[in-house]
Amino acid sequence: MSKPLQAIRGMNDILPDQTPLWRYFEKTVAELLDSYGYRQIRMPIVEFTELFKRSIGEVTDIVEKEMYTFADRNGDSLTLRPEGTASCVRAVLEHSLAGGGQVQKLWYQGPMFRHERPQKGRYRQFHQIGVEAFNLPGPDVDAELIVLTWRLWKKLGISEHVTLELNSLGTAAARAVYREALVAYLNTRYEQLDEDSQRRVQSNPLRVLDSKVPSTQALLTDAPQLEDYLDEASRVHFAGLRARLDAAGVPYVINPRLVRGLDYYSETVFEWVTDQLGAQGTVCAGGRYDGLVEQMGGRATPGVGFAMGIERLILMLETLGQVPEELSRQVDVYFCAFGEASELAALTLAEQLRDTQPNLRLQVNAGAGSFKSQFKKADKSGALYALILGENELAEKTVALKPLRTDAEQVTVAWDALSEHLQSCLAQEPLLNQ
Ligand code: ATP
Ligand code: MG
Repeated sequence: MSKPLQAIRGMNDILPDQTPLWRYFEKTVAELLDSYGYRQIRMPIVEFTELFKRSIGEVTDIVEKEMYTFADRNGDSLTLRPEGTASCVRAVLEHSLAGGGQVQKLWYQGPMFRHERPQKGRYRQFHQIGVEAFNLPGPDVDAELIVLTWRLWKKLGISEHVTLELNSLGTAAARAVYREALVAYLNTRYEQLDEDSQRRVQSNPLRVLDSKVPSTQALLTDAPQLEDYLDEASRVHFAGLRARLDAAGVPYVINPRLVRGLDYYSETVFEWVTDQLGAQGTVCAGGRYDGLVEQMGGRATPGVGFAMGIERLILMLETLGQVPEELSRQVDVYFCAFGEASELAALTLAEQLRDTQPNLRLQVNAGAGSFKSQFKKADKSGALYALILGENELAEKTVALKPLRTDAEQVTVAWDALSEHLQSCLAQEPLLNQ
């Protein structure tokens, strides 16, 4: 017998019970980004492998071991995108969106692919919403990005369970000097470092700073501090950001060991972390990448951005019980009809309701069925009301309106008064499609 077909490990179906929460989340973020003047961009999911090597960095975890890379039929090396910034910068360059110092505030969303060990909050296909701003060199826009995420957490009801960690990586030049000092320090303790960190001493020493291995962390207490190597402009930038966060009332902690896993960052880096998800605690991360556009062949163009992991934020909403109740309803109203003539009348009435209330989620019973079976389906749909049309109602040109979630009495409504009556009944209810 052949093996049953299955999805690839770490690549998940998002089932109909889950999609309402996804759509609620995505809609909330999209509306928020609209309100701050960010415009959506949509990039392909597959790019030339070279793009990611050049932007993310050859010796990062992502490029070294996490990319889904394959040969196209003509031999080109292609990669399923592991993140969005590289593609976004490529698109900005290719279409001269940031030419002549033009400001661009962009966002995107979609699946990303990394070959990691699947576990709670870590998948091989996962989804991000990313935001990028170009040609804004000051800390004002760094602050804006953080302030808008803070507003999002408040809107979603999770702000008490996330902490903002902040650091400045300074300029590439300052980092190069620091890197030498750090390597010298790490070499004096080389034998005691964990294996991964030993490897990184040469390839990517700053990553040793955020090693998750406790014994390595313990060795770092006397390590040189990046902060001491920052030049004046970087300090002023960082102070400007902190002043704005203070003014906006966004709490943060400075984490001098926050370095991020991608090579292109400079100056500001930040992560929103939570203790609600176990080891996969970062729900949103980003920073400034002033050198990236130039590194990718464009003119020097300041850039800053972040990406949030949708799966982790969805998990948080569920863990914290912040899933709005109306999401559990498949429809708002369920229309039961008994007998062929009533079914025809119900269809006509339902279509009239859709004309007057296009956002109403109305399910007309299909497949006939007894009183009992139709009510069972109505109840299971989560609907707030059932509309009932049987022989008596048909004769009187009325429908019965039965509240399904309260003890309120069933009422009889004339056909021509139905739309208005239903509207007033639903006016107090939180509906999904307002
Ligand atoms: P981590 O340290 O958790 O591996 P990262 O630094 O690799 O995260 P980024 O590349 O900065 O992550 O991506 C931004 C966000 O995307 C992360 O903060 C996280 O919320 C989410 N994310 C990253 N990798 C995954 C994954 N494999 N599965 C689910 N979400 C992910
Ligand atoms: Mg990672």
